[in-house]
Amino acid sequence: MTGGLEGYDAVAEANAQKSVLAIHWSRICERLKAEVGEVEYRTWLRQITVGPVDEDEITLYLPTRFLRDWVRGQYGDRLGTLWNAEVPAIRRVELQVARPGSASAPLPADGAAAAASAVSEDTPPQPAAAPAPAPEEPRHAEVRSDLAAPLDPRFTFDTFVVGKPNEFAYACARRVAERPSSPGFNPLFLYGGVGLGKTHLMHAIGAELLREGKVSVAYMSAEKFMYRFIAAIRSQSTMEFKEQLRSVDVLMIDDLQFLIGKDNTQEEFFHTFNALVDAGRQIVVSADKSPSDLSGLEDRLRTRLGCGMVADIHATTFELRISILEAKASASGVVVPAKVLEFLAHKITSNVRELEGALNRLIAHANLFGRPVTLEATQDVLHDILKAHDRRVTIEEIQRKVAEHWNIRLTDMSSARRARAVARPRQVAMYLAKQLTSRSLPEIGRKFGNRDHTTVMHAVTRVTELMEQDPAFAEDVELLRRMLES
Ligand code: ADP
Ligand code: MG
Repeated sequence: MTGGLEGYDAVAEANAQKSVLAIHWSRICERLKAEVGEVEYRTWLRQITVGPVDEDEITLYLPTRFLRDWVRGQYGDRLGTLWNAEVPAIRRVELQVARPGSASAPLPADGAAAAASAVSEDTPPQPAAAPAPAPEEPRHAEVRSDLAAPLDPRFTFDTFVVGKPNEFAYACARRVAERPSSPGFNPLFLYGGVGLGKTHLMHAIGAELLREGKVSVAYMSAEKFMYRFIAAIRSQSTMEFKEQLRSVDVLMIDDLQFLIGKDNTQEEFFHTFNALVDAGRQIVVSADKSPSDLSGLEDRLRTRLGCGMVADIHATTFELRISILEAKASASGVVVPAKVLEFLAHKITSNVRELEGALNRLIAHANLFGRPVTLEATQDVLHDILKAHDRRVTIEEIQRKVAEHWNIRLTDMSSARRARAVARPRQVAMYLAKQLTSRSLPEIGRKFGNRDHTTVMHAVTRVTELMEQDPAFAEDVELLRRMLES
């Protein structure tokens, strides 16, 4: 995408400048929110729209006289001080009521957009006293296909299998679908590894909202967002692009990590984001890491992304993989023996997409040849996939599997914590490391937070003892061993 992008930086640069007031305003809003609290902010201040700057005076608009008077009385001075601190050239704040007629329309309070246009040469300057927000299009349920990707009809809440690793993310997604833009859930930030259901959940939110028939929804990958943005720059239609984006009720951007290093697109996304959130619209974002771990994204964007609800989808557990396989097998109508499902769930652990792919292949095969699915046939049909998963087991892998199995943090494998809930799985991991790898006791100890080889020895003895005493525990350890060996 580098060819033919000459001028891209220059245009984006100009855009950034145009939006500079919006940046200041969003910072001021953050401070105001921190000072007065969320409720107060939402009640009074969120309705403010930024108007033009005239010499040392900035005009801010409010939709009604009542609000204007209230804000002037309660916050007038503070607004002046904050603006002055942000932009020293601004010494006065003028509060005005937006043009009658616009005031009764649902208010976009589109601080960023208004501020951008106030200093934009793309649009004719607005008369100072008539800052009517763009008239709202009538709301109806729609996917904004003009600017978004279609939703995959297979990805709904009904087809999403819920288990421990994803129940929180699922609940958040449901909540947003039921009541978009609720405080505390905006933005909704979903993150997790590849193929764990982020896209599925986003589509499910979209499908649900559309089914309810309440809102307009735009879903697109961050990559597509970037290409759309670049295309808009090329065709000199950035204002249109922005307006389109800012007219949706729910904007979902998938795989945000794609924007790392794409500073100009990040900038644009940041403004869109602010404009939408400030206008009370819902944003849903997915990424492969948490906001704080997305190094390479601008700080202010990361901060804002983390302001709503952050929900992670953990790696799948054996149980969840079985449930997913069961659901998909039963939907296919082909009988797949439990033994085969277990085998697959043991073998293919990295992501659901692969698991699904393997099952689909089995099912296709069964349908094609009209033969029952057996363990033997499975090994045969999937032999290339299975081979790819046959690797020598490493200590890291053992730690990961064991941590996953008992739902503890991977870091606890090397932490100093001694609580039994952590110490026991750690001992099992040491035991398995001894059993399944050729590493020496001191080597193993080092991998577990630099522990002494005697600690490892003790763990091996202790786990062996416990396995003799407690059949359920023995079964757990055996299961782990089989998973790791297979
Ligand atoms: P991601 O976006 O996180 O990379 P996807 O949402 O594309 O992952 O999921 C990959 C595939 O796995 C999709 O076909 C999806 O339907 C399926 N999948 C993932 N998690 C689940 C789940 N919990 N229940 C059912 N299907 C799932
Ligand atoms: Mg995805």
